[in-house]
Amino acid sequence: MAVSETPPVVAPAPSVRTVDTGTNFRHPLYQVLLETPGLTVGTAALDDLMTWGLTNAMWIFPMATSCCGIEFMATAASRVDIDRMGVIVRATPRQADVMVVAGTITTKMAPRVLKLWEQMPEPKWCIAMGSCAISGDFYRNLYSVVPGVDTFLPVDVYVPGCPPNPEALMHGMMRLQEKVRRQRKGENVVPEVKPELLKITQPSVPRLTDPSRPSEQSHQQELSSDDPTTTEETAALVVPAGEAPTLAPLVAADFEGLLGELGVATLPTDGPPIIPLAQHLELARRLKAIGYKQLVTIAASHWPAGKGRKGADAAEVEHYEIAFAVRTIGQGSRVASWAVKALPTEPVLTLSGIYAGADWQEREQFDLVGVKFAGHPDLRRIMLAENADAHPLRREFPADAHAAPWR
Ligand code: SF4
Repeated sequence: MAVSETPPVVAPAPSVRTVDTGTNFRHPLYQVLLETPGLTVGTAALDDLMTWGLTNAMWIFPMATSCCGIEFMATAASRVDIDRMGVIVRATPRQADVMVVAGTITTKMAPRVLKLWEQMPEPKWCIAMGSCAISGDFYRNLYSVVPGVDTFLPVDVYVPGCPPNPEALMHGMMRLQEKVRRQRKGENVVPEVKPELLKITQPSVPRLTDPSRPSEQSHQQELSSDDPTTTEETAALVVPAGEAPTLAPLVAADFEGLLGELGVATLPTDGPPIIPLAQHLELARRLKAIGYKQLVTIAASHWPAGKGRKGADAAEVEHYEIAFAVRTIGQGSRVASWAVKALPTEPVLTLSGIYAGADWQEREQFDLVGVKFAGHPDLRRIMLAENADAHPLRREFPADAHAAPWR
């Protein structure tokens, strides 16, 4: 009969866990330091020397975007002369120690600012100069403005003011020097940062070169830039090159003469004359032919139902009014401006085929107001981020709307 033998239970050996607190660590050179007479004194002096050198050669990368940038420039000029602290302003992040953010930072700009920050070598520091950089200031609640750069950068020193004067920035640099001295002595001087917000600084739309970019993204972008008309509708509206214009031949070589031909007899005093939408392109073509060669501006406004230009019919339906201005070049230059009214569904033919400068100006009006310019070669957003979901200069858009992902 087989007897099953149960192996004896062996109690596990008590584990001996040594907790290494690091307090016992001795660097190999440490003993040498201790044993060599006078060497610690020498290294301490060397450390002080390096700190002195570091804090008196803090090169600035200027992230100057608006009015604070002027004060920043004054800081480098002869009256304050920040160079006396060894500060040199370098227009490259790779050779700079301190980024001075002087001005308003927009949500579109923020990822670029962060990229420049990341290109600065360590150790590096950041100064937020002026209330726009600190908190967004007046623009804090606008759709496009970052409410303080510390939402995405580790700011070391805040220089308050609107704008802070050059002496204030100088004082900020001195506070930074003091902070660096304390850091180098081993004090735990942590930059002020909101880590939960750091992750939102990544580009919200993966770049074209990013392999993680979904193809649907590109498709959506193309759709968002589509004009409301079909190709056939657009083609029917455009006067083919070389074909006789539908209007009477030019009889008066000036703007008023052209308007008269278009049936605009009296010129309003409170704004540019409104011409029929169908004749807008032809007017621009003729104006250019008689010498109005430069496009000055294109500006659109959005009118909800019941609203309109002063003196307009109160029963107006929702529409856009788009004003154009062109000018002759040279001495005695003249400006001609006109406007068209268009329903939200009505195409406004692009002027980009006549005036090259209309390209980006029409993109701007599309981006901010929502006007669709038929036939435009590349009607994409130009100021707001590509994935912005609204046109902020439309009347129904609340000025303090949340600007995701910042608020
Ligand atoms: S803080 Fe004042 S001075 Fe500075 S950028 Fe803003 S508005 Fe301009």
